[in-house]
Amino acid sequence: MTQLIYGLCDMQSFYASCEVAARKEYAAQRTEFDDSTDPPLVVAGDPSRRNGIILAATPTAKKYGVSNAMRLGEALELYPDLIVVRPHMEFYIQVSIRIQQLMKQEFPLQEQFSVDEGFFAFPWPSNLFPDPIEAARRIQEKIWDQFRIRSRIGMGPNKWIAKMSNAKAKKSSGGIVWWQEEEVPAILRDMPVETMWGLKRRADTLKYEFGVQTIGEVAKIPIGHLRARFGVWGEIIHRWANGIDLSGINPSAYSSPHKSFSHRTTLPRDYYERTDVAVVILELLDEVCYRLRRARQVGRRVGLGVTYEKLTGGFWRAKTLSKFTDTPEELYPELLALLDRYWDGSGVRAISIGVDMLQVESSMQLSLFKDLPKRNQFYEVVDRIHEKYGETSLIRAVSLKKSGQLRDRSGKIGGHFA
Ligand SMILES: [Mg+2]
Repeated sequence: MTQLIYGLCDMQSFYASCEVAARKEYAAQRTEFDDSTDPPLVVAGDPSRRNGIILAATPTAKKYGVSNAMRLGEALELYPDLIVVRPHMEFYIQVSIRIQQLMKQEFPLQEQFSVDEGFFAFPWPSNLFPDPIEAARRIQEKIWDQFRIRSRIGMGPNKWIAKMSNAKAKKSSGGIVWWQEEEVPAILRDMPVETMWGLKRRADTLKYEFGVQTIGEVAKIPIGHLRARFGVWGEIIHRWANGIDLSGINPSAYSSPHKSFSHRTTLPRDYYERTDVAVVILELLDEVCYRLRRARQVGRRVGLGVTYEKLTGGFWRAKTLSKFTDTPEELYPELLALLDRYWDGSGVRAISIGVDMLQVESSMQLSLFKDLPKRNQFYEVVDRIHEKYGETSLIRAVSLKKSGQLRDRSGKIGGHFA
């Protein structure tokens, strides 16, 4: 019977590979299957300052112990001859768009997943796709031939398995791994819980609250227990652990805007001071803006919701702006203006922030990238650090005030203050 094979194609060290591929002096020495033929190059937030952050590093640079999100100064101590390049986001996005187009031409279904990852799917067995490994090799070879970028491909009976097998593909010599449906349960059974893609902190909850070590053990937890602990996520965890993922390929996932992004928090006590309320607004706004950037979307209306003491009364007011934005610098003053205009001074117990009237950033890409705003690079670095080390690793100094919620939530403070 014909089935759909799903694949995830991931570019190796994408930003660094783009930079290496753009430099003719390395072309002759590089080969597709030996990534030690790359120069020891890193892309760093601000090469002129040693406390710039590494955004990407070639495998050769990583061999010296250099890693993403490391400070440049630390990396240079590990290997003083590192080639340091500043980021060129516009260039990476252009390469990304062209690689995704190539995948669209190659497969009947394709969905961009991030700047350097794309899902695809094809019917198998079929005349066009008699052999999945061959189909994967074909796109891998085209990406190398046209862009001199190495890619790794994981395939399986659904998107989640493609993501999981992709992690294995990264460690395999040819960079292509295919898990057939019937072998999936046996493969997942002994894999550690923390290798389950997409769970984030929920993996720790499974380990420490449910006492499970392997995906096979998660698969055996009664679904009701998972639902009770994780809500709708319980269902998803149950499916994934059993090798099931019902999400299909959405070709426009990356280009159709969300309706809105919002975030809300309930405070531990009533806040009466404007400065205290303002700190929490900024924290919520940072989270909302982070999600906007991840989705590469920008919004034109910002809203503030305030709920008063005993959770009775309050207001929700929004303001439509003259242009689209995703930056706290532009949105924060608008929120404070709303606060000052509508807050009657009652004790504040809950605050919510929303941004809507969204559009996809890429539709304005050309105008946006003309001046390649420094702030984009700044937030790129901030986001990478947050993803790697958690949201408190780099927080605004203002959040250290006792009214700040961020620090309370994690119970610890990272070493760096923005
Ligand atoms: Mg990658």
